[in-house]
Amino acid sequence: TRTRLVMGNWKMNGNLATNAELLAGLHLGQPDPAVELAVCVPFPYLAQASVALAGGHVSWGAQDVSAHAQGAYTGEVSASMLVDFGCRWVLVGHSERRSMHGESSQLVADKAVAALDGGLVPVVCVGETLTEQEAGQTNQVIAQQLAPVLALGTEALAKIVVAYEPVWAIGTGRSATPEQAQHVHAAIRASLAGAGSQQTRILYGGSVKASNAASLFAMNDIDGALVGGASLVAQEFLRIAAA
Ligand code: 13P
Repeated sequence: TRTRLVMGNWKMNGNLATNAELLAGLHLGQPDPAVELAVCVPFPYLAQASVALAGGHVSWGAQDVSAHAQGAYTGEVSASMLVDFGCRWVLVGHSERRSMHGESSQLVADKAVAALDGGLVPVVCVGETLTEQEAGQTNQVIAQQLAPVLALGTEALAKIVVAYEPVWAIGTGRSATPEQAQHVHAAIRASLAGAGSQQTRILYGGSVKASNAASLFAMNDIDGALVGGASLVAQEFLRIAAA
């Protein structure tokens, strides 16, 4: 069985003062053994998150990682550095990095390998744009994005998480319908199974909020959520987890 995972992606938001309030609100929330909770915070605040969340029910991670283990890569952050600050998770291939930082699907797979080698769980993000969706190319785009990840093999696939985030649903207030998301999740599930992994969790992301989370979680192949805007308010995020 796949334990539900609800993960916040703060993106480039917050400061020491607002984070302190948000982290305290999450830390004090009621733990639920049926739901894993995590937040992916900006690099400079990993130390703050590690102190505020230590010993609690919320784990933490980062929003990107270098494909390299160490060396002359100015501005990059390695998996082992993230592990030094207690990270369990790292997002790779978020659509904002694919579109604004030119990350290819091969680079995203390389980052997933670096994360796994360092002892982190990579959350591999995929998703089509509105143009691609309107052209009926959704499954094809997702398949291309996933191909280098599926090639990593069964052992790697058993450890990773996949997040389906349609670009048109991110930050727009317009979530995919549960049926739309389920349709794509089922296709992702089938391709993971074809590559030998039955247990990989598949999260949905894109305008998830407390009011639509339950209907998304009711779908067979939706194992949780990757939450942007609504993860910046502790009570809203906790309501999503409890949905
Ligand atoms: P929103 O929840 O703000 O739509 O963002 C989704 C997302 O990109 C999470 O990674």
